[in-house]
Amino acid sequence: MDSKIWLSSPHMGGTEQSYVNNAFETNWIAPLGPHVDGFENDIQDYLKNGSIVTALSSGTAALHLALILLGVKQGDEVICQSKTFSASANPIIYQGATPIFVDSEEDTWNISPELLEITIQDRIKKGKKPKAIIAVHLYGMPYKVDEVNDIASAYNIPVIEDSAEALGSSYKNKKCGTFGEIAILSFNGNKIITTSGGGALITKDHTTKQKAIFLATQARDNAVEYLHSSIGYNYRMSNVLAGIGRGQMQVLDERVQARRKNFEIYKEQLKTINEITFLNEPESFFSNRWLSCVLTPSEDIREGIRLALLNKNIESRPLWKPMHQQPVFSAFPSYNNGVSDALFANGLCLPSGSNLTENELDRVISTIKTYFRAC
Ligand SMILES: *Cc1c(COP(=O)(O)O)cnc(C)c1O
Repeated sequence: MDSKIWLSSPHMGGTEQSYVNNAFETNWIAPLGPHVDGFENDIQDYLKNGSIVTALSSGTAALHLALILLGVKQGDEVICQSKTFSASANPIIYQGATPIFVDSEEDTWNISPELLEITIQDRIKKGKKPKAIIAVHLYGMPYKVDEVNDIASAYNIPVIEDSAEALGSSYKNKKCGTFGEIAILSFNGNKIITTSGGGALITKDHTTKQKAIFLATQARDNAVEYLHSSIGYNYRMSNVLAGIGRGQMQVLDERVQARRKNFEIYKEQLKTINEITFLNEPESFFSNRWLSCVLTPSEDIREGIRLALLNKNIESRPLWKPMHQQPVFSAFPSYNNGVSDALFANGLCLPSGSNLTENELDRVISTIKTYFRAC
């Protein structure tokens, strides 16, 4: 049996272990400490544009705090891109709010600005103005930032920028993670860089960061005894894991280059197969190509390729199943145009790790070519 090829596996740079050792040597084994501060500064220096970063236990925790900080409460409505990973939508439910799902457009596979505006107008007509918009840079491809922001500000609704998959991507030369009222990152094991598990909240001012830290550390009021006048969470990042993050930040740009190279190799090597197409970057969009995705003409062909790869011990995965199709979310309102349904039926994510070898890429490519030759 050939060795397993994963969709996206962790890739250490080499200095992570020394940061972790330092945490042990100094006994900073806690959800605060010098590495947490250092990691936050590293991310701020990378993103620029006045970003204020709070390191947290996960991207999901960051999304949850973002909703709380924007005042989302029981009974409120929150717009969410339907084509995404469930973690974008789950925190809406944690708050007792109602997700309103909006479909994608074909240029970036992200939230359709046209449908977003129709949705906002319809929700207002039905009696409630949405409290926030969660837009996602899927697979690292930026959403249409200007269009989404213009609509959001016209209706005075804050955007939560889910940049979990898009660290290292940019739009008009500005880094993803700097466009929303609040943005989030993820450092889960499969993301472009990882702390094994972790996330970050990106805000525009220190007051919001102070509120985020307050909520993330059990909402302890300023008193000698443990005094609480609001509900808190345990969402801060461990200093040990932040050490991994500091090492990973040193190689982030290399990771982006490697993932983009994977994409270019797939595109070049598979260009003779007419049934396979790729998503190109629109002008002034720069994707980290977190996952290399292909579109096929049908669900049957997509499944055919997936099973052929599986048979060679190669992991691949259909594009995210849209939230409006998920059993747990299907009863909530959704505004659809068929784009995300078609992407789900026909699209496949190929192995995309920054540590894939040439030999592994060749195995993926030749398996796909063999599949089509046999058709
Ligand atoms: C990974 C991911 C998240 C959640 O991040 P975790 O750190 O795993 O909690 C949220 N949104 C999207 C789009 C993601 O891909």
